Amino acid sequence: MRVRVHSIPGRDGGHALIFGDIERVTAPLVRIHSRCLYGDALQSDDCDCGPELDQAMDMIQRADAGVLLYLEQEGRGAGLEVKAEGLRVAQNEGHDTYSAYVALGHQPDYREFDTATRFLAENLGLRSVRLLTNNQDKVDALQIGDIAVTRVPLITEPRSRRAREYMEVKRTHRGHLLPPMSFHRIGRLADPVFLTLAVTVTAAAIYWAPRPLAVAAFILMVAIVQAWHPARTSVRLRLRAWRRKLTQRPQATPSR
Ligand SMILES: [Zn+2]
Repeated sequence: MRVRVHSIPGRDGGHALIFGDIERVTAPLVRIHSRCLYGDALQSDDCDCGPELDQAMDMIQRADAGVLLYLEQEGRGAGLEVKAEGLRVAQNEGHDTYSAYVALGHQPDYREFDTATRFLAENLGLRSVRLLTNNQDKVDALQIGDIAVTRVPLITEPRSRRAREYMEVKRTHRGHLLPPMSFHRIGRLADPVFLTLAVTVTAAAIYWAPRPLAVAAFILMVAIVQAWHPARTSVRLRLRAWRRKLTQRPQATPSR
């Protein structure tokens, strides 16, 4: 694949790698990745940065085109030293990595995506992207920058207990759109098994039970699948994207 490289100046900048001919794609795959020396370069098992980057690059390669914005926002924008200090506090004092930052007098996350958004919109002329992320902040930043976003989840296997805990904290404390960790514990097999079970129980309830019970069973099953299934967030975002499409004027063809 042809790769073009641009530097993105600014405090929240970095580099952009443009793979293949994104001009031919209506909504190219985009990964906005904040530098993580431990995860990306040293393949640390403690976070999901390395697996997320690997999966994003695999998907861009399969699509034959895409954009990687690699931002110099190490340690959620606080730098490598604060990150190391945060990890030490987290491991010794039982904090998670977010509350460790707060205990050290920092904000949990300093990162900004304004410069990245402007680069996509102004330098690359993108008005619509498929964003590889679990982070709602990135989706919001692009949408505020008038870029239509279809979120593509990155579901990675945690490589250790610590990575699993880290991802669970991301999900519960920072609102990252990750499946609950029970999903990983039970494994990928559980997904089709669970859905089959849900459909079977519902069908049996409709056939055997009195009508109100059957309706209640159906609603309960839908609620369980909604709460549990990893695709649930993308359904919600897709509905939001449709709402946006209905309420906004049609997007002009991007000029580059
Ligand atoms: Zn990391």
